[in-house]
Amino acid sequence: MARPESVEELSEIVGRAHRESRTIAVYGGGTALDDHPPGHTPGLLIDIGGLNQVIEHSPGDLVLVAGAGATIADLNAVAETGDQELLPDFPADRTDSGSTLGGAIATRSVGPRRIGRLPLREVVLGVTVVLADGTIAKAGGKVVKNVAGYDLSKLMTGSWGTLGIIASAALRLYPKPQTQGYVEIPGAEAALEAIGSQVAPAAVEIDRSPGGQASTVVMVEGLEESVTSRTESIVNTYPGAQRCVEPSWWARRAQAPVTIRASVSPALVPQLVGEIARLEDTIGYPIQLRGSAMGVFDLGIGDLDSDPTIATRVVLEHLRSWGQKQLSATVLCAPASVWGEVDAWGEIPGFGLMRTVKDQFDPDGLLSPGRGIGGL
Ligand SMILES: Cc1cc2nc3c(=O)[nH]c(=O)nc-3n(C[C@H](O)[C@H](O)[C@H](O)COP(=O)(O)OP(=O)(O)OC[C@H]3O[C@@H](n4cnc5c(N)ncnc54)[C@H](O)[C@@H]3O)c2cc1C
Repeated sequence: MARPESVEELSEIVGRAHRESRTIAVYGGGTALDDHPPGHTPGLLIDIGGLNQVIEHSPGDLVLVAGAGATIADLNAVAETGDQELLPDFPADRTDSGSTLGGAIATRSVGPRRIGRLPLREVVLGVTVVLADGTIAKAGGKVVKNVAGYDLSKLMTGSWGTLGIIASAALRLYPKPQTQGYVEIPGAEAALEAIGSQVAPAAVEIDRSPGGQASTVVMVEGLEESVTSRTESIVNTYPGAQRCVEPSWWARRAQAPVTIRASVSPALVPQLVGEIARLEDTIGYPIQLRGSAMGVFDLGIGDLDSDPTIATRVVLEHLRSWGQKQLSATVLCAPASVWGEVDAWGEIPGFGLMRTVKDQFDPDGLLSPGRGIGGL
């Protein structure tokens, strides 16, 4: 394993590996190493933890520039000194375990407040990247209006280390809301209406434990007085709705041997929740559902006592044929034995374009082979 302390050292290491035709994988915080299991053991593992400096923090410009190995938790603490926060809502369980800026960008990390917030790719204002042959490339700048190199920042978001190694990034910051309030509504039927309602929720999440009933939790944020009146309005609008504290499952992924990521249009969410309950009954296998009312869900398949391979295959096939293909279902995380036995990706729209970009950035296929979308 190599642990560079500067972008120049990272560039030298990558350039040498390129000349020796060695494959490379990057280790950030290691919290997503079970997601998208790599197809091959890398020739060289690069620990990016040495590049963890805060390069610039400008609260007035709402910009934070840091090394890719800085942890999200540390960067949030820095932003808080200016009463600000990182705009994307990074998942709490991964942040608590040390996920890094580079890892969060590479995996296109998301959390519950995706409703009112810009997606991560819009918040990454600039990146410094070491390309497959060791060349250092820079895009964007710390100034919000500078859009030069915008595409490279977007390309790196969700690239899973397959297009280049992120050495540092500039992120846009946002003012930290004064407080948050939560309301629980039984079932999933109210979720769509709640998203578009006048209370302007910051998040609407749905959780259903295996064998249980689904519940919807609406979160609003802002000034104390406004949060109180908006939570009251939700309680008065929906039968059975009750104020609650932040649920223990909030911003945490389903805990199960296999996680399937299912995406569906928000209008179909109640049907999907019902379909999962029926599927669970039919196959007699526990399925946990958790995610955003916007239609992006993690399905946790199985328990620790049984082999989830067959159940995973059945759930994937059923969902892909359900609702006239209005739903996409891919495996996010699974033991290698399951991953190899199921069609983890299914049909990926735009895969040809992704292949072309990969071939241009990494013609020799040395960067994180097998780790990208569709096994790129
Ligand atoms: C589509 C998608 C959605 C997700 N949604 C959620 C969610 O809703 N909730 C949740 O809890 N988690 C989610 N995750 C996982 C979450 O993003 C990760 O747990 C975390 O942010 C990764 O940080 P890490 O430092 O631990 O990365 P690691 O586990 O160390 O690495 C993860 C990947 O990123 C690459 N990588 C790491 N650092 C760099 C770098 N500097 N340059 C280039 N590549 C690098 C690695 O090679 C590897 O492929 C999601 C992941 C994906 C792909």
